[in-house]
Amino acid sequence: GSSAEPQVRLQFYRDPPSGSEQLDTVQNLCLARLRLLKAVEEVGQDMIKGSKEYMERLKMKLGKLDLGASLLTTSGVHVDGLRFREEIRRDVLSHFLLRLAMCRTEDQRRWFITQETDLFRLRFQLEQNADRSRSSRFSAVAAFLSANGIHFDSLSDAERSDLAPELLAATPGIGSDAELATVAFYRAHFTEALDLVRSRRVYLRDGFAYVPETGVVSMATTRFRAHLSHQLAVACRALPYLGEDARLVPLLGAIAKNLSGDEWTAKSGGPAGVVLSGQVDQLAKTSFPPCMQHLHSSLRRDHHLRHFGRLQYGLFLKGIGMPLEEALKFWRGAFAGKVDGDKFAKEYAYGIRYNYGKEGKRADFSPYSCVRIITTNQPGQGDSHGCPFRHCGADLLAQRLQAAGISQDQAQGILTRAKDSQYQLACRDYFRAVHKLSSDHEVSINHPNQYYEESRALLLGNGQQQQSARAPVRVTKVKAAPAATAAGSQAAESDWLDETIDQEMSQVDLSAYEA
Ligand code: SF4
Repeated sequence: GSSAEPQVRLQFYRDPPSGSEQLDTVQNLCLARLRLLKAVEEVGQDMIKGSKEYMERLKMKLGKLDLGASLLTTSGVHVDGLRFREEIRRDVLSHFLLRLAMCRTEDQRRWFITQETDLFRLRFQLEQNADRSRSSRFSAVAAFLSANGIHFDSLSDAERSDLAPELLAATPGIGSDAELATVAFYRAHFTEALDLVRSRRVYLRDGFAYVPETGVVSMATTRFRAHLSHQLAVACRALPYLGEDARLVPLLGAIAKNLSGDEWTAKSGGPAGVVLSGQVDQLAKTSFPPCMQHLHSSLRRDHHLRHFGRLQYGLFLKGIGMPLEEALKFWRGAFAGKVDGDKFAKEYAYGIRYNYGKEGKRADFSPYSCVRIITTNQPGQGDSHGCPFRHCGADLLAQRLQAAGISQDQAQGILTRAKDSQYQLACRDYFRAVHKLSSDHEVSINHPNQYYEESRALLLGNGQQQQSARAPVRVTKVKAAPAATAAGSQAAESDWLDETIDQEMSQVDLSAYEA
């Protein structure tokens, strides 16, 4: 109600939700949160975290997404009690569900923690801003901190003036004694303020950091991150007990997979139809991503590729629409300078049939996503697989960019991205450069096969149509789509998930999953 103290919206996510939920609610919430975190990731890759532009851009992006608007609403804003509770419930539930989905591997955990922490930081800053502009004495930040047992000692006026020279010297953004007198300071153990310590933005004495009010966000964020990584480790251990639930586990697994882009083949068959072995040289030149171009030219040069190269490239070719018979023909021809027909049949044909699910486990293997290529099977001496932006030295990469006809300026930008570990963004900029697209052309690269499809769509002319409809050209299913297309991509996502879940059993009892 309006008469009571406003309730705090910001969450530390200590208490798991309880009660029971419809399975499709679970699914929608999970996907909504995932979409939200993907948007957080995207903005964070493009801009300096915590900066004004970053906050504005993030607010703009998140505001358009389901869940986003309510997460950005600050505590003092009055909404009726029922709606308030519902919004909090969706926030908490979506967080906990995705936490479960993302706790299996180290990569997923790290990703989830990073994005959730960035989201938390943004919300905390918004709460601080709201506190500052509020006329009442209510402080959402203070209420949040004390509700979560976080106590920072505030410095008395006397203490502050005693330390004035040190505080002035060590705290950026405060220029004079007069200014200093208007800023509240807190004392906290230095481990609470590691961000500030690391960037030398705080006065340290006897193991304590003297933090201005603006630094409180940094301390709260550090706590939040530590809490979350501990909780994910706990959730990970609890997972085996979830194994009994035949509905939730596949759902969570599918969602986690979706993040890595590994699900790419599930729906898309490649827009160009069947690809024949004779077409590969030409396609490689115009539409293959750099990783596959490199594998292709190594294959042409050496008449050979090593194991992981054959795997990465073979599955990619399968993904762009090359049938098994063509693949055998292609590889036999490519190896011909070095390997005769007999040897090929004995040593290599098996592997190709294996990729197509015709041998061994008979699994229908999917082409590798960028994340997978970037993070697994690191190439060694003599290997040609991997992602050039990740695995290629700067000089060599610069050379290749030049060979691809990319201008000095653009090449410099791409090299910087690669150096900053933003491999997929480097690839996106590369994509824009070779297709002569402007820098505001909306595209993101998650998968080599998606790169290929986007390229084909552009070159065959569908690009214009797709752009004018503002549809993101085909990508992995979950991505922060522009609002105009959100409905369309949501439909596609639910289709895909429907296959995973047995809809008849549609109630999930959440009490079973409390870690
Ligand atoms: Fe290939 Fe992905 Fe690396 Fe681009 S980012 S080169 S598509 S692995």
